[in-house]
Amino acid sequence: MKVIVTGGAGFIGSHTVVELINNGYTPIIVDDFRNSKPFIINQIFKITGQKPKHYAIDCCNYKDFETVFKIEKPEGIIHFAAYKAVGESVNKPLKYYENNINSLVNVLKLMNEFDVNNLVFSSSCTVYGSAKVIPVTEKTPTQKAESPYGNTKQIGEDILHDYFKTSKNKNISILRYFNPIGAHPSGLIGELPIGTPNNLIPFITQTADGIRKSLTIFGNDYPTRDGSCIRDYIHVVDLAIAHIKAFEKQKNQTSELETYNVGTGKGTSVIEVVECFEKETKIKLNYSFGEKREGDVAEIYADNSKIISELEWEPKYSLQDALKDAWNWQKNLKNVK
Ligand code: UDP
Repeated sequence: MKVIVTGGAGFIGSHTVVELINNGYTPIIVDDFRNSKPFIINQIFKITGQKPKHYAIDCCNYKDFETVFKIEKPEGIIHFAAYKAVGESVNKPLKYYENNINSLVNVLKLMNEFDVNNLVFSSSCTVYGSAKVIPVTEKTPTQKAESPYGNTKQIGEDILHDYFKTSKNKNISILRYFNPIGAHPSGLIGELPIGTPNNLIPFITQTADGIRKSLTIFGNDYPTRDGSCIRDYIHVVDLAIAHIKAFEKQKNQTSELETYNVGTGKGTSVIEVVECFEKETKIKLNYSFGEKREGDVAEIYADNSKIISELEWEPKYSLQDALKDAWNWQKNLKNVK
């Protein structure tokens, strides 16, 4: 099965391309490297022995994107390409709405034009906001988004529901990612934050590597077991495999739209992450407590029973594995860049 992977050179995209190849799919990467690096394609080759075909085009440019569909005639598409920095989205909302919404609309128009029936869409647990009952199931009501970024995921899901009502023979899987972390166990691909990392794990690995002086833990008086926020950290390879499982199910369907939480089902606090990293790597991390970060919810983790039973997926990697792989990638970065 030939699959277009928008954002296929990015963090989650590149790991998914590897798993697609490992599972006999032919991924076609569409990525203009605005938030990724060309050398990643070569790294995918080193892992899999196959160099995926690649188009450096903007998914918002309909004509360019159309050309890819015309040439490749894909059977499926995974749509990762989107801006994802929460803070930046607050300051530049139109940048986020323009890119994240237009690219999705183009994907759907092209699916109609070229009779592509299978889509996997990257959504986020951010749609749950500050949920009253934890863990969250797919039926947990979504809440008004805290940021334009989060809103683009909610609007994206709404667009998919409206599109699905009017289209025939389309299979759509909406995957709500919890906190993807880690790197490929080979140490050849991983996260490449541009500038100062916003996310916890790259900030930790850069601090351990001496690139950052100290980690600030945002808040120590949340109503949680140790006062720091609780999240559901999932190894990026497990997350990548969920996309394959979604396609496997779609192959037996003619028309369905399903939403799945992709998380481990376990909540871990920021302090627990730091302690686990220190234990795994034997590195003492410089850190201090700071102000709460605006928009952070105290606690969220997934009820993952739906994806486990319907897609026969389950997380294989532990938090220890993920932190070890993230650290291994950080150390290797000097060699691969
Ligand atoms: N966090 C932190 N210091 C940092 C970055 C993140 O304490 O430098 C905390 C953040 O407040 C949250 C958790 O780590 O509780 C995960 O944040 P991240 O940005 O990685 O993911 P999010 O859950 O916001 O999507």
